[in-house]
Amino acid sequence: MMDAAVQHEQAPMKRERNIAPVRQPENWTPASWQAFPAVQQPTYLDPAELDLALDQLRELPPLVTSWEILALRGLLADAAEGRRFLLQGGDCAESFDDCTSPLISNRLKVMLQMSLVLTHGLKLPIVRVGRFAGQYAKPRSADSETRNEVTLPCYRGDIVNGPAFDAESRRADPRRLIKGHARSAMTMNFVRALIDGGFADLHHPEYWDLAWVAHSPLQSEYRQMVESIGNSLRFMETLAGSAVGEFQRVDFHTSHEALLLHYEEALTRQVPRHWGWFNLSTHFPWIGMRTADIGGAHVEYCRGIRNPIGVKVGVSTQPDQLLRLIDVLDPDNEPGRLTLIHRMGAKHVAKALPPLLSAVRASGRKVLWCCDPMHGNTESLGSGVKTRRFENIRDELDQAFDIHAAAGTRLGGVHLELTGENVTECMGGARDLTESDLTRAYKSSVDPRLNYEQSLELAMLIVRKRGD
Ligand code: PEP
Ligand code: MN
Repeated sequence: MMDAAVQHEQAPMKRERNIAPVRQPENWTPASWQAFPAVQQPTYLDPAELDLALDQLRELPPLVTSWEILALRGLLADAAEGRRFLLQGGDCAESFDDCTSPLISNRLKVMLQMSLVLTHGLKLPIVRVGRFAGQYAKPRSADSETRNEVTLPCYRGDIVNGPAFDAESRRADPRRLIKGHARSAMTMNFVRALIDGGFADLHHPEYWDLAWVAHSPLQSEYRQMVESIGNSLRFMETLAGSAVGEFQRVDFHTSHEALLLHYEEALTRQVPRHWGWFNLSTHFPWIGMRTADIGGAHVEYCRGIRNPIGVKVGVSTQPDQLLRLIDVLDPDNEPGRLTLIHRMGAKHVAKALPPLLSAVRASGRKVLWCCDPMHGNTESLGSGVKTRRFENIRDELDQAFDIHAAAGTRLGGVHLELTGENVTECMGGARDLTESDLTRAYKSSVDPRLNYEQSLELAMLIVRKRGD
């Protein structure tokens, strides 16, 4: 099994920061999670069909390389020390149908524009991580759903089953694992091709313009930044006598919630030039809030892979519990290994976050702190529609910066659900979307996302907060 799992990889031309090897965790294999309670997993009715799909998946090529994974760990270690800032964002869940050229490139455009705003304002390089190329599995609050006295399994994301409310769609279908891998690979391939082709070149921010936002109220502020960056670039290039290489190509990394453990296990491989095991389906897997139980299968799986790991932290997380989790996931306090993503809600963050910050600080642990201002601010309107208010999202982020400053810790990143489409899913923002606007372009089948303008506005807020 070991030999089959060894991947052949090309070392990159340019090495990023080298992360010192530590050690392989004891009593761990890619399958050891199976002996632990695994919540949020679908029930596959035919085990032979599942095995067949997993056998195929184990043979398919990986989506990323160990070199990229270790390079990202170096970047996250820098962010933990205040030398970079993490921007992680994308859909709540990707859908197979959304694997299209415009949707992928529009999402990149938004993230590139946001990172330009952030670089300009924070005077820091930005680590860009998409919630894409694998964000297909969703945790749910109930296993089943009843409509008109019919009960069916809940929708768990396109890699498990379909959203339509009929028995066939809701059946957990292992063939979707293969399709999910393929869609992830297509997304990844397109992102890499765009980036390699110069799409992300800072000399050409006009490539990232989105047609429908020409009259946005934020455009003039954004244009001024673009102009100012262009001037600085030209100045530096005049001094250097040539193009400044770093700015011609920016990197994107991928992330998704490591939820569906059979899938993650099948993409967990060894490589010839690095010791240990890597999840080669993504650079940066994270553990969701509902699966962060210290005795659970998700923590068991993640402790053994060498990728950087994110962990969602919510209002109910206790300081001692968090410290034990850190011990399990990062026993050697390795730089860039752990990112703690707090998602408390604007109402609770002032009370819930400080005890966690002081406990982690007092323990001497080095982690990257990141704020997800989305998931603690979800609400259901009387109409049943799920939304988030921009003012609450902004408020949580705003408070998080201040709370970190007061605690002597550093907020080094932000985790957002966003899209490059002109959706109306979150209320408020520069155009002050109201409840009645939500019916106009509500496209998410899971959580509500920031649209382009709301995303850019949030980036500007971060700059105002941190950049002064
Ligand atoms: C998510 O990121 O989509 C999610 C479900 O988050 P959390 O685990 O924080 O609830
Ligand atoms: Mn979500």
